Order: sequence, then C-alpha cells, then structure tokens
Amino acid sequence: MSDKHVRKFMGGNMTPQEANAQWGMPPGAKCMACGSRPTTVARVFMPLDELRRRDPKFDALFAANPAVVAQMIVQMTDGPYVRVVTQYACPQHRRELEKAAARSPSWAIVELNHGPDPANRVAVGAVR
Ligand SMILES: [Zn+2]
Repeated sequence: MSDKHVRKFMGGNMTPQEANAQWGMPPGAKCMACGSRPTTVARVFMPLDELRRRDPKFDALFAANPAVVAQMIVQMTDGPYVRVVTQYACPQHRRELEKAAARSPSWAIVELNHGPDPANRVAVGAVR
C-alpha cells in the first residue's frame, strides 16, 4: 500500500503521545518528580467499607466535607470505592510512579493509564 493513502494522525503535526500529554491530562497536572507535562496517570481506589473499617477518621472526614468525599467515590461492579490518590508522571519518571503505585495495599485497586502505546502500528504516520 502506498503512503499516499495513509491518513496521518493530526496531519502528522504531532504524535498520539504528544496529543495525550496536551489534551488527555487535566490542565494543571504535573509530573510528581519534575513538574513537567505528564503522560501517565496512576489512580488508587480503595473499597469504601474497607477504608471505613481501617480508618476511623474517614467517617469524620465524610461528615465534614460530604461534597468533596462524594466526588471521590466511584461505583464499581463490586461496590463503592474511594479514589484516594491520583498521581501523574512524565515518560522519564514513569517507572518511579509505577513503583510507588505497586506499594499500595493488596486490597486497593491501582489504575495505570499510559496513554497511547508508541509501538501501536495503527498510529504509524505521525512525524516525531
Ligand atoms: Zn518527570
């Protein structure tokens, strides 16, 4: 197949990774280590009942800021979870973020989002 028929991502002006860093992350998000624009996000979720059982202060926090805590609660298939941590990392500090996320307790859920994979052949055509 000729290259003329391949539509380039964003007309070849940016890679999918650059687009993810620009628009896929919240406007104020910064890398946890160096403060540059992140490409990876890690979120740690803990089951609401487990968190309440282990941390007696949680109910007091909930009573004091119900609107804030309600924003942190996510309904999953096995019940409500609380988003306790959200951290960002640039490509250079991605490994540190993954190591930090791996230290979460075994009963927590860690969501890692690295954005588009540079090895994804579907995205081929963007100019670096
Ligand atoms: Zn960094």
